Amino acid sequence: MKITRVETFLVAPRWLFCRVETDEGIVGWGEPVVEGRAHTVRTAVHELAELLVGEDPLRIEDHWQRMTKGAFYRGGPVLSSAVAGLDQALWDIAGKAFDAPVHQLLGGPVRDRVRVYGWVGGDEPTEIAEAIAAQVEAGLTAVKMNGSGRMSRAGTVAEIDGVLARLAAAREVLGPHRDVAVDFHGRFTAATARRVIPLLADAHPMFVEEPVLPEHTHLLGDLVRSSSVPIACGERLYSRHEFLPALQAGIAVAQPDLSHAGGISEVRRIGSLAEVYDAQLAPHCPLGPIALAASLQIAFATPNFLIQEQSLGIHYNVGAELLDYVVDREMFRFVDGHLPRPTRPGLGVLVDEDAVRRADELGHEWRSPTWRHDDGSFAEW
Ligand SMILES: [Mg+2]
Repeated sequence: MKITRVETFLVAPRWLFCRVETDEGIVGWGEPVVEGRAHTVRTAVHELAELLVGEDPLRIEDHWQRMTKGAFYRGGPVLSSAVAGLDQALWDIAGKAFDAPVHQLLGGPVRDRVRVYGWVGGDEPTEIAEAIAAQVEAGLTAVKMNGSGRMSRAGTVAEIDGVLARLAAAREVLGPHRDVAVDFHGRFTAATARRVIPLLADAHPMFVEEPVLPEHTHLLGDLVRSSSVPIACGERLYSRHEFLPALQAGIAVAQPDLSHAGGISEVRRIGSLAEVYDAQLAPHCPLGPIALAASLQIAFATPNFLIQEQSLGIHYNVGAELLDYVVDREMFRFVDGHLPRPTRPGLGVLVDEDAVRRADELGHEWRSPTWRHDDGSFAEW
């Protein structure tokens, strides 16, 4: 079998899909995107495709090595995301070639269903209680929300009280049998995070995410030691090498993104590395159906998996939803807050190719917002 063609599709709301075709008629799909840089990643995918066309798609690890290291300069979100989507597509092809779901090729299922969580409250969380009630109504047993909206990095008393009040409101709606995670989105300084996180402990958040920016990973150890609240990070880390210092600092939850951190091949390894530090894996996934399908394949094959993020109804999904691009929506239908084990070969997702091609004709220009503080200076989003 040989790879004959690599195509990309820029689809709303903010995603990029790739389609890898072979001379035996087997087609693999992937989702190579970093939010806000879809056009740049698209160019990277087509550069990397030069390494793949004419090659045997089943030599996944060899392709991963060449795509990741072959151009001498390596790493970063754009290249790692381009590799990630192509890696997903190669695993999809391998599963279809061997007539097995990808998790079967990774050693077989280690669980029967996968717990998922949904987002509430958007970028500037308000009316949390109603949003959570809606997610509970939809069947979810766990949610995540931003700890704050735009705020001063040092945090005023009112801003910090707002964080505590929202979490308390969430806990009241959820009760003791459901979970809430709080995303700090790198909006606080390390000192503010150290002040705030211990105050959250009584509400028992499942974890606090990105308490500091990824460039401040060297400060995570102090935060881990400052309270009993589990610390999570990793959506902006792109390889096992970048996860190592965070794991050494004592994070409880590693959150690689299947579409950013080198795909199934590398996230598999990040999961194993996390296991050495008794950390759990909760893959980041505010993305589309192919990224979620790839995440599920990892979730079913990873012993130290905790919970899966998914984007149904997320505030970014304006104009299109995850289900708009799949033929079989049952794969993504929750039962008691869990998704069932995909049994189809490959990633298991049946992509609606006509819908994807139509969406690509319109494309999108999604960009991360730029926020500013009251004094006009740049604010972390
Ligand atoms: Mg996050």
